[in-house]
Amino acid sequence: MTHPLDSFLASTHIAYFTMEIALRAEMHTYSGGLGVLAGDTARSCADLQIPVVFVSLASRAGYLRQEIDADGRQIDYPDPWDPAQWTVPLDAMIAIRLEGRQVWIRPWLYIQESPLGTQVPVILLDTDIEQNDPADRAITAALYGDGQDYRLRQESVLGIGGVRILQALGFDIQSYHMNEGHSALLTIELLRRYPWRSDRTDSSQTRHDAERVIERCIFTTHTPVESGHDRFPYELVHRTLDGFIDVDELKRFAGEETCNMTRLALALSGYVNGVARSHAATTARMFPGYRVRAITNGVHVGTWAHPRLAALFASLLPHWSHEPEVLALADQLPDEAVWQAHEAARADLVTLTLERTGVSLDPHLPTIGFARRMTGYKRPDLIFSDMERLLAIHRNRPFQIVMAGKAHPQDEEGKRLIADIHDHIARMKGQITMAFLPNYDIDIAKLLVAGADIWLNTPLPPMEASGTSGMKAAVNGVLNLSVLDGWWAEGCIEGVTGWAIGSRTDLDGERHADELFGKLEGTVLPLFHDDRERWIWMMKQSISKLAAYFNSQRMMRRYATEAYLR
Ligand SMILES: *Cc1c(COP(=O)(O)O)cnc(C)c1O
Repeated sequence: MTHPLDSFLASTHIAYFTMEIALRAEMHTYSGGLGVLAGDTARSCADLQIPVVFVSLASRAGYLRQEIDADGRQIDYPDPWDPAQWTVPLDAMIAIRLEGRQVWIRPWLYIQESPLGTQVPVILLDTDIEQNDPADRAITAALYGDGQDYRLRQESVLGIGGVRILQALGFDIQSYHMNEGHSALLTIELLRRYPWRSDRTDSSQTRHDAERVIERCIFTTHTPVESGHDRFPYELVHRTLDGFIDVDELKRFAGEETCNMTRLALALSGYVNGVARSHAATTARMFPGYRVRAITNGVHVGTWAHPRLAALFASLLPHWSHEPEVLALADQLPDEAVWQAHEAARADLVTLTLERTGVSLDPHLPTIGFARRMTGYKRPDLIFSDMERLLAIHRNRPFQIVMAGKAHPQDEEGKRLIADIHDHIARMKGQITMAFLPNYDIDIAKLLVAGADIWLNTPLPPMEASGTSGMKAAVNGVLNLSVLDGWWAEGCIEGVTGWAIGSRTDLDGERHADELFGKLEGTVLPLFHDDRERWIWMMKQSISKLAAYFNSQRMMRRYATEAYLR
């Protein structure tokens, strides 16, 4: 019998480590943008036959299933899924030592297949096996579960366990790509393999040869602010990983005060990048002394284009999905066909919204979409900051709003924002039609980013490292109205590909609400209601100028040539 990994082992020398990955809606191994990016990365690697093996956690209890109670508050439930339904168990098992106990780890294999039949393997690590202590069986249960102890154990399983599993499965990995700092302990697992030879004399400071690790590691950071970085007290590190590494040596890489996973990954990676140009610059300022390149994120166009639009693209550009550069020619599509495809996408959103919320959207009104993680810096409430003005704008040129997004269970501010949104929805009833779709996931995202007309994004700069939902909207000719942070600072051509809220020079966010209302009232809504021809022209500009560039095929070709082939 052939082994399920046989076709990958000889050719695969690159491993991509990620805490979360969005492979399909039924597999609850992701929470939001970071996981969707990892999923799109895997889909593009499968398409382009870039030989990468992906490593993540089984996350059997998922992130959270969101329900909204009668008061508009998020209730979060565990969101379990069964790996056996979508993946196959591999017969390898390794152990790592945590708090002095052996913790056994078993891998599941998911095969990501491209429409062309080419594949990449995804390994999901699982500690829920009978050899383990009951507490250790839960390490790979809740994605981003509560508490630093739990998080450090998860990151140990991912980073240390991941490297060992790949080896046990027979992979010969030469490059390790860390998607965010969660997997940074892999650098230490590698470091342990390169002690200085005894004839070296300059080994006073460290006991291992860091250069051997640096040449193998690639780090993509996603966090633009210091407070967002994963950090662990050394006392906890010592207790959890006693004997794994000398803490004094670890401090040289991860920082003196606390074990900072971003610092650790930075110190031991030979290639470091941010996920948009502005984010790379912010990161370079935060960590002087490191060269931080920019590889701007992209989305997998074949996944995110609505089927009706996909069929239209295929009629003019048969290989658009494999080679999205050709979407540059999408401005040649017939207006009527583009509008019909978009109306079909909007009808799907109307149906979904009625089904999930009981709210009847008007199939012909411009629809403002806003969906992403519900948290303070994304300011989902900015559009509600002056209800009188919003109502006045609506009286002149009506519109409707659809929102969605989960708050992390510990994010009280995010939960309050969700309750506030529901408060506004209730109070506007009979005036402005608004709906909140519960339990945002990639299936809901597909319908939202295609069925809306205007994609709103109002983060507080420089907090949005990249943002990707706006790219998904752009693929569908949905026009972005966004603060110039992250990717939109690169993608916005005012009045052509979409619109900016605020300017490039004034990023402090104070006047963003005023600028949002001004642009909606004076530019965006008048164009939709009064000049449909120009609107469709902009839709086609959005597809041809943005989707042709902000896609994950371009992104992965850059990682392949610049980071992997160093
Ligand atoms: C794309 C996506 C995100 C990321 O949205 P941003 O606007 O980039 O924050 C989050 N969740 C889901 C389900 C997505 O599909």
